[in-house]
Amino acid sequence: MTVLILGGTAEARALAAELDRRGVTFLSSLAGRVSRPRLPVGAVRIGGFGGADGLAAFLTAHPIGAVVDATHPFAVGMRGNAVAACAQTSVPLLRLARPGWAQNPGADDWLWVDDMAAAARAAAGADETIFLSTGRQTLGAFTGLLADKTVLVRVVEPLDHPVPGRWTVIHTRGPFTAETERELMAAHDVRTLVTKDSGGDYTRAKLDVATARGAQVIVVRRPAPPAGMREVDTVAAAADWAGAPH
Ligand code: NAP
Repeated sequence: MTVLILGGTAEARALAAELDRRGVTFLSSLAGRVSRPRLPVGAVRIGGFGGADGLAAFLTAHPIGAVVDATHPFAVGMRGNAVAACAQTSVPLLRLARPGWAQNPGADDWLWVDDMAAAARAAAGADETIFLSTGRQTLGAFTGLLADKTVLVRVVEPLDHPVPGRWTVIHTRGPFTAETERELMAAHDVRTLVTKDSGGDYTRAKLDVATARGAQVIVVRRPAPPAGMREVDTVAAAADWAGAPH
């Protein structure tokens, strides 16, 4: 039987590498959102399944014995579909999610908010330049309230909508080092950072650098996981589960 990894994250790639090392058969799935995705080792399929029903049909049509949802902590659409489809088909499901940043040094001084709308309200009263690092799909929550502000946006893929005139958009892909984050924030005189609680080390340098600069850090909390969803926070634990009989 094959383990289906719902991916698009560094953890998902690490899990693929670990299952490969252990000789477990697996298939990684990517959404297909970025033009040049970082590919995991092993077999990969790319593109949506067509909602929960589409995923359930996929699970039925292929010899999938277990699913590991290793998507990003903010990919709630895919997570909900995985819960529904696995329940419908009785395929075991595990969530692999990296720990959040609440325990980071300085986290007590950050402003934690529940969603992008609250982050936009907080940022509207904060010092400029405001560095928005919440992802391309979230920008709509900020364009109204921050239309007249000096804003720096960092995204992986080019935007398909225009942004307000005082906004600067840079396209680049991580990981970013403390040194490059320091240079970027100094060059744009960043006084406020808005981000989401992605967790992990991959995008963490910006938080340390912003905190060291004395910038206001606004962090959007993670959406709560569905009740009863089995979850681990290490690749090794996910590999143990995936490699065990189900
Ligand atoms: P999302 O809103 O939860 O998902 C929207 C739709 O995209 C899903 O309903 C599904 O389409 C498709 N999809 C998402 N992940 C998929 C996967 N691994 N394999 C196949 N289809 C997938 O997801 P998102 O927030 O747009 O994230 C898209 C991808 O980027 C995810 O793989 C995630 O791990 C990665 N990512 C997201 C973020 C973030 O901040 N959200 C950051 C880094 C990486 P169907 O309904 O058609 O199946």
